Amino acid sequence: MVVTIDGPAGAGKSTVARAVAARLGYRHVDTGLMYRELTAVALERGTDLDDGAALAALVGVSLATPVDLRSELISANVSAVSRHEPVRVRMRERQRELARNAVLEGRDTGTRVCPGAEVKVYLTASVAERARRRASELGIPATDVELAIAERDRRDAVQLAPAPDAHTLDTTRLGVEAVIDHVLRLVREAEA
Ligand code: C5P
Repeated sequence: MVVTIDGPAGAGKSTVARAVAARLGYRHVDTGLMYRELTAVALERGTDLDDGAALAALVGVSLATPVDLRSELISANVSAVSRHEPVRVRMRERQRELARNAVLEGRDTGTRVCPGAEVKVYLTASVAERARRRASELGIPATDVELAIAERDRRDAVQLAPAPDAHTLDTTRLGVEAVIDHVLRLVREAEA
């Protein structure tokens, strides 16, 4: 069984994917974190972010010094790394290797990484609500992150579309427990 959870930044993917994986005893694969790690390695090495082949060659390379992968510096640069097709090809290979009894979260896990996944979920929420959530995690005003989130939406737009067979859930007015329950119900239906 493979569950995919896609959607834009701040839609609640990580919280929901982590909780669903824990409840099912499945592996949680955060594909955004994999792109963030690659970005950190590229910045550490001074790799040209326009050089897709050089970036693709760094997939799987570890950081020499640990850094905060959720920092604004990484968030601001990750789309420039993830836009390269050679990078995405290598990433998808690695992500597919992890996709057994797993919950994958990202942008393209239901469309490109695991098009055959049994349960596909697409989470959305208004930009204002997503900014509010990200800001409360970071402890800063929502207005400071709203522009950054809108900008990342724009840059990630190519990757970001629900699979035709995905269940779309607008979480703007939904509590996290309600979303988790909904996804677990979809999994039980798929198992039946
Ligand atoms: O989900 P998160 O905000 O951590 O993702 C970081 C970035 O990684 C996204 O903004 C996007 O550029 C990239 N990404 C991607 N495909 C995925 C997951 C993330 O291109 N499946």
